Amino acid sequence: MSSLYVPPPKCLEKRFVAPQRHMFGPGPSNVPPRILAAGAEPVIGHMHPEMFEIMSDIRSGIQYAFQTRNKVTLAVSGTGHAAMECAIFNAVEPGEDVLMAVNGIWGERAAEIAERIGARVNTIRTPAGSCFTNEDINQALARHKPCVVLFTHGESSTGVLHPLDGIGDICHRHNCLFVVDCVASMGGAPLYMDTQGIDILYTGSQKVLNAPPGTAPISFSERACEKVFNRKTKPVSFFLDMSWLANYWGCDGKLARIYHHTGPVTNFYSLRESLAVLAEQGLENSWCRHQEVAEYFHEGLENMGLRLLIFILQNVRLPTVTTIVAPPGYDWKEITSYIMKNHKLEISGGLGPSVGQVLRVGLMGCNSSKASVDMVLEALKDALKHCHKSRV
Ligand code: PMP
Repeated sequence: MSSLYVPPPKCLEKRFVAPQRHMFGPGPSNVPPRILAAGAEPVIGHMHPEMFEIMSDIRSGIQYAFQTRNKVTLAVSGTGHAAMECAIFNAVEPGEDVLMAVNGIWGERAAEIAERIGARVNTIRTPAGSCFTNEDINQALARHKPCVVLFTHGESSTGVLHPLDGIGDICHRHNCLFVVDCVASMGGAPLYMDTQGIDILYTGSQKVLNAPPGTAPISFSERACEKVFNRKTKPVSFFLDMSWLANYWGCDGKLARIYHHTGPVTNFYSLRESLAVLAEQGLENSWCRHQEVAEYFHEGLENMGLRLLIFILQNVRLPTVTTIVAPPGYDWKEITSYIMKNHKLEISGGLGPSVGQVLRVGLMGCNSSKASVDMVLEALKDALKHCHKSRV
């Protein structure tokens, strides 16, 4: 007689085999064999010298991908949300004013995160699918006098690439840190952390980098460090406290590293490999390829009679994630399910303000190719032929 109250689950007796899918939604994207293989290497200690070398390589890779020389550059053990929280928890103290630029779901999420730590949250808002002008930003900073402002470079819920030039200078004139979310854009669109005056920049591993989800590159400028390391209060999260993380990643100038948490060793292997792939391809080549493939895709969609949410004249189409106006008369869920079932291909519906209004297709990293575009166009044509269409 066993003393166990819960028996071993029957479901765990079956071996799990992951299905093969074309991951053409807004993320995660496919992980190519080379990066998967790196993640299958044996686990070593998170504080072994070889691991510190890997972490140092990752830091160099992130500096390249972000175009920054910031010392405090590392990968958070967690997804894009962990990096968002890391940026906000460290840069903002309770009671301080922040300004969140809301033109889709990510500004809303950032506002919610800041609110939870007791910041005074101000927002500027523009309809989903549009952008702010530098004059809007200047006026909002003068009115709210925040210590931190956050913009989303690639708004994956709407398909907008927000222009960043000039915002850094405006923020600094108003004595404010410029924080940018590039989870959906990094590697797929031009971004220059240092020359654009970005103070905190973060991304995720599972989009253009084609690594598994679970690590999130982040970097802090000197100006950001000045504020973060001279706070009056400790950040609300021990796990995301930059003084600890900077030490763990060997970027606080101290010789001894103190145990903070057990880093996700094999995820770091994959992240390193994904950064190596990007470095090998060249960042500018990657930006150009994403742009060219996006244009080829957009033309194909328009030739099929589909409309894009973001007008070409706005000149802010995100090359990594495309928002297609949901085809009139169809149920978007039937289209995405049909394509998954018959083409083993993921595309997704809208998110936040775009729910029910769009289909979203992400072509990122190794998935950014004309062959992938042809596959998506075929699948869409097939779905529009076979899914139920009501009279409109
Ligand atoms: N910001 C943006 C712009 C994103 O697209 C995403 C992921 N879709 C996130 C943040 C959050 O990342 P994660 O899902 O990895 O937590």
